[in-house]
Amino acid sequence: MANGAVRLDLDGKPIKPLTICMIGAGGFIGSHLCEKLLTETPHKVLALDVYNDKIKHLLEPDTSEWAERIQFHRINIKHDSRLEGLVKMADLTINLAAICTPADYNTRPLDTIYSNFIDALPVVSAVAVASIKTVVVRFANAEAAAYYIATAGFIGVSCRTRRSDASVRWSFLRQRNEQELTQNVDAAAAADTCGNQTNSPFVKYCSENNKRLIHFSTCEVYGKTIGSFLPKDHPLRQDPDFYVLKEDTSPCIFGSIEKQRWSYACAKQLIERLVYAEGAENGLEFTIVRPFNWIGPRMDFIPGIDGPSEGVPRVLACFSNNLLRREPLKLVDGGESQRTFIYIKDAIEAVLLMIENPERANGHIFNVGNPNNEVTVRQLAEMMTKVYSKVSGETAIESPTIDVSSKEFYGEGYDDSDKRIPDMTIINRQLGWNPKTSLWDLLESTLTYQHRTYAEAVKKATSKPVAS
Ligand code: UDP
Repeated sequence: MANGAVRLDLDGKPIKPLTICMIGAGGFIGSHLCEKLLTETPHKVLALDVYNDKIKHLLEPDTSEWAERIQFHRINIKHDSRLEGLVKMADLTINLAAICTPADYNTRPLDTIYSNFIDALPVVSAVAVASIKTVVVRFANAEAAAYYIATAGFIGVSCRTRRSDASVRWSFLRQRNEQELTQNVDAAAAADTCGNQTNSPFVKYCSENNKRLIHFSTCEVYGKTIGSFLPKDHPLRQDPDFYVLKEDTSPCIFGSIEKQRWSYACAKQLIERLVYAEGAENGLEFTIVRPFNWIGPRMDFIPGIDGPSEGVPRVLACFSNNLLRREPLKLVDGGESQRTFIYIKDAIEAVLLMIENPERANGHIFNVGNPNNEVTVRQLAEMMTKVYSKVSGETAIESPTIDVSSKEFYGEGYDDSDKRIPDMTIINRQLGWNPKTSLWDLLESTLTYQHRTYAEAVKKATSKPVAS
């Protein structure tokens, strides 16, 4: 932190230094969020990821002024028992881990669904478990209960069957925050909710109010706009009610099952619903973030340089790669889809407000995007071509764009979101946040970074003789 001044939240209350467990800290968003937290706040980061290349500059040298406030843990959340302990050590867990490149949604639908739904389950349950105050459980028999209690880490448990072997009553002591809690739990109270009991435990959690989850979702959960189903020249297509995406009222509209593009949106929607249900039924304190095309330095990879040469990253990196290699930018299905792009640094400001204002952020879903930066993909290609010429000093090639079909570019099962304008009412009201950076400015700083980081490496790679 630049100076020792106490940070105040939006209501003028001092902000206590937090320990934040950040899952997926080594990715694009995580790297910017870590940077922000270390340079501008007193918070500590437990940074979890399988890779750390994008945050190396924050981890080395270990004598840096923030070395004490960041700890990297190389962890795969799919199968690492350390996850629960790290979540317990933290006040807040932020889950950023995901496969989020459209080229994977229709070609690797299983990985997409597993990574975005199944693999996210341990995180939600770890935060829910860490925030338990009261537990009501009904098991098939006492053995099942004893097994669950043992594996869930409760201590000092005694349990006895009551009335029937399907109903268990016990009291337990549980170690939490170096303090032992004693709870009497009445399984009878759960009887109504546990009517159809099987051998699996039915667990009802009640939150203790000091473990939070900020879960990163996606604007893809909205899918297509209502207006996209109207004829092309229908006047209602111009009506904001038919395209502006609102957290609390817009429907989520996906294509058919064989359009596997929507495997990502669907997995993300289900995990959102799970987090929301944990909040509604069990008091889990959560915030859900729906990013709308956040872009900036360190996003994705340049194929053949710091990622696989056959890999297809998102549009910013695809177009950057084409510009660096002096190839035409490929417009999928005519480049007619529209997107709103937001500078990563503006978006991170919004996340920091959520972190530091729990009372205003808990229980909310927030769109985080820039409705003023809307372009078609074709317009994006044209603007990037101009900006790149400016920052690189190279004139554009003669035919700067080329049309390709989505089948050719992405393969079978691709489909697209037609338009994505985020409604800003909720984030404005709760956090007073607005994006600042224009599309031109954000492209200028991002393409300056791309040119500085990759131009030499691309030149070297393209000048290598091709093996016969
Ligand atoms: N796109 C394109 N050419 C490319 C890469 C992407 O025309 O080289 C299009 C893509 O079909 C989509 C838009 O750009 O309409 C944005 O794609 P991106 O991969 O960034 O992710 P999305 O916003 O669809 O999640």
